[in-house]
Amino acid sequence: MDAFVSRLVVEQREALGPLYSFFSESAWARYRSEPEACDFVFGNPHDPLVPGFADALRRWSDPQDKDWFAYKFSEPAAQEIVARSLRARTGIAYEPADVAMTNGAFAGLGVALRAVIDPGDEVIFSVPPWFFYETVVRAVGAVPVRVPIRPEGFDLDLDAIAAAITPWTRAIIVNSPNNPTGRIYPADQLRALAAVLTEASARNGRPIYLVSDEAYCRIVFDGRDCPSPTAFYPFSFLIYTYGKTLLTPGQRIGYVAIPPSMPGREAVRDALFAAQLMHGYAFPNALLQHALGDLEGLSIDVGRLQARRDRVVAGLRASGYEVVEPEGAFYVLARSPEPDDLAFAERLGERRVFVLPGTVFEMPGWFRISLTANDGMVERALPLFAEVYRAVGEEKGVFALAS
Ligand code: PLP
Repeated sequence: MDAFVSRLVVEQREALGPLYSFFSESAWARYRSEPEACDFVFGNPHDPLVPGFADALRRWSDPQDKDWFAYKFSEPAAQEIVARSLRARTGIAYEPADVAMTNGAFAGLGVALRAVIDPGDEVIFSVPPWFFYETVVRAVGAVPVRVPIRPEGFDLDLDAIAAAITPWTRAIIVNSPNNPTGRIYPADQLRALAAVLTEASARNGRPIYLVSDEAYCRIVFDGRDCPSPTAFYPFSFLIYTYGKTLLTPGQRIGYVAIPPSMPGREAVRDALFAAQLMHGYAFPNALLQHALGDLEGLSIDVGRLQARRDRVVAGLRASGYEVVEPEGAFYVLARSPEPDDLAFAERLGERRVFVLPGTVFEMPGWFRISLTANDGMVERALPLFAEVYRAVGEEKGVFALAS
């Protein structure tokens, strides 16, 4: 008898086809372990670990009582640390009991949606998206609804969002600072979004929840402010992961927080807890929760990341690339010099420079560079980016070379 595999899983596997192919068949898959590899693909660490991280884990790994490594829900001490940090960052009076500790933002997004979704409800997100939004939405039985961002400036298209809302719309995912565009949505745009959602919720006679993916909220450049969408709209979930700020994405800890303005807060709290159980015990490991007091204040060096952004943006522009300078998060978007971004990424990959082709994140014709590569990789890669740009141009035979 043949094995049986869930139709939903097969569909999701197909929807993620370009990502799977990239994982298994690209030049990155073949050559990324080579010593001269310049890996700009994912937000993985290529510099030494953030100072203090390993010490914190060592310090808190000695059991202080018999329950130290027992089953854990959201540890009260961790909830308290998060609430304090959120109050300082957003000015909103978040309460510890309204913080659900999760194993990262990936689970946090799923748990928040699971808490409010009925089968068949619709969830809106902007395109280009983080490439796992569709998976997260489908996993909770909801229907993904894509709304393109504005091509100029990469802002939310509020008219298009309003037009995409139906009586079945239950939630919208907003991600600022945005992966992949690097855009930070300004306060007036978030206020206008809140007005659209408030009006549509009243019309539908049921709330549309805002799921605010703030994975990169502490990675902002040029001293910018990063307003939380949850400050403008009461039916909001704030989702966070420590995996970006600490650049330790394999150590899974994050949270979902609901603001004090959330109507029916206690029912939503209970729903989140039940959703964490349904989601396969979506709590962080005990050790990470114990260590959170030491981890909360740590961060990668954002100033250094900004200097790397400047170097990459200037270097690519000097070679002729069209590049978007990010305001936050740690990715740089650039236009592929040839329309086929997969072919372009392969050309670079043959030279051991690896980028994420736009086809993987629904932005064909573009590519994404993760600034979590180290400075040595940047310096080795820039001349190779220039070489490939020239090679493409020579094949086309249509343009003068940048000096
Ligand atoms: N949201 C966005 C926009 C992301 O880019 C990522 C990771 O790449 C996540 C959520 C998930 O973060 P984590 O893997 O730390 O849970």
